[in-house]
Amino acid sequence: MDNHIDFDKPQCNCGIVAVYDQKDAGTYAYQALYALQHRGQESSGIVSSDGNEVYRHVGMGLVNQAFSDLSILQSLKGHLAVGHNRYSTTGSNALHNAQPFLVDFKDGPIALSHNGNFINTKVVRKRLVEEGSLFQTTSDTEVILHLMAKSKSDDIAGKIKDALGQLKGSYSLALLTKNQIIGVRDPRGWRPLCLGQRGDAYFIVSETCALDLMGAKYIREIEPGEILVVDENGLHQHWLDERAERAACIFEHVYFSRPDSKIFNENVDRARRKLGKNLAIEHPADADIVISVPDSSNTAALGYASVSGIKFEIGLIRNHYIGRTFIHPDQSARDFSVRVKFNPVEGVLRNRRVVVVEDSVVRGTTLKHLAKMIREAGAKEVHIRVSSPPIIAPCYYGMDFPTSDELIANKMSQKEVAAFLGVDSLGHLSLDGMINAVSDDRGFCTACFTGNYPLTPDGGTQKLQYEVRNPNG
Ligand code: 5GP
Ligand code: MG
Repeated sequence: MDNHIDFDKPQCNCGIVAVYDQKDAGTYAYQALYALQHRGQESSGIVSSDGNEVYRHVGMGLVNQAFSDLSILQSLKGHLAVGHNRYSTTGSNALHNAQPFLVDFKDGPIALSHNGNFINTKVVRKRLVEEGSLFQTTSDTEVILHLMAKSKSDDIAGKIKDALGQLKGSYSLALLTKNQIIGVRDPRGWRPLCLGQRGDAYFIVSETCALDLMGAKYIREIEPGEILVVDENGLHQHWLDERAERAACIFEHVYFSRPDSKIFNENVDRARRKLGKNLAIEHPADADIVISVPDSSNTAALGYASVSGIKFEIGLIRNHYIGRTFIHPDQSARDFSVRVKFNPVEGVLRNRRVVVVEDSVVRGTTLKHLAKMIREAGAKEVHIRVSSPPIIAPCYYGMDFPTSDELIANKMSQKEVAAFLGVDSLGHLSLDGMINAVSDDRGFCTACFTGNYPLTPDGGTQKLQYEVRNPNG
């Protein structure tokens, strides 16, 4: 059961930063990228400016790999910088796609970092190529720069408005010129972006955890539809032409953002704990211990434990230092990838009835292997509780989910999933239970759980004809 929309790929959920008027801005951007590492591990890069010259470095891998030679930071001179961590998506892991992009316009250089995904770039790119544009990358982000170059407007906010007026999709952007930084958020506010300050210096970052590391205090969100230009005269607010209902990504709260961040005006820790609390109310279990699948479900598991009164234990240990691994030809790759990442704590699990709180189920691979491991460690019963509804539809706005055919919830009923996982019970949080966990419970995109897409390439909204199975049937 596939949908008929062929939104453009690849997608990119990434981490972005911009720094203004801070000595050694490049080093601060580097620190911010460290704090935003969870948002992207494929490549990392920084562009800085000293008001005259711009400097760029991008590299593949984690921040500490891309910047393994720390002398690179000294070469990123100046008091302005933008940075980017790119999320790993299939078929696009090449250095030429690493951001920030840097191009020369007639009025000077512009650097750009993008978090999100455009859904109509195929058509726009085709038109631009026919008109003579020469593309350097396969990234949809580059289209913005071509459209800005063609704009007749002579100020940066006008150029951005002209370009983004022709594009549809999700985007939080950080831009840099010789003497400005600019933060932009799409009219639906899909991805987080916020403003921080320390003294006279301003910071624009995907998540507040990056502000904490740079010693900056949180000021506010960049509003959906806002273009915020920061220069020597301070902050200048502009707006994109399009107005729309907010469609903030609920999956940022479920999985993607860090619990120590504040996004969409709300602490992720609070929302994620409430997901676990609501889950315990909807799906209680007769069990001895609650465990999480570290790190992504730790907070939800604490919420589940606090409402159920069942003791929280650490039953799985995660290896954080995996990097590239060699798999022996005799081993199954999928099994190995879970085993190398998690190991059960036998003394905790043996003879116990165990509730395993997981944040989401995509293909079901992780849980299948974990359930087997937990049983082999001697657990008497295994009860899976998931702090989000079954994922039934692909995301076209930046989350890296597979096609709908690969999503386990589209292949079998939840009873069949429980049998496939080999567990005693399986319960997913309901859609209402998930929405109830965020205090501002309006204006969220739930497309991956419902198939209701807030924006399609032709500009409309679409409810896809998914058969939404009873999640607990
Ligand atoms: P599954 O094994 O069912 O395919 O995936 C579910 C697991 O992947 C969960 O443990 C969840 O924390 C994690 N997960 C959910 N969404 C994403 C994602 O977009 N990227 C990655 N790398 N992991 C994810
Ligand atoms: Mg996980």
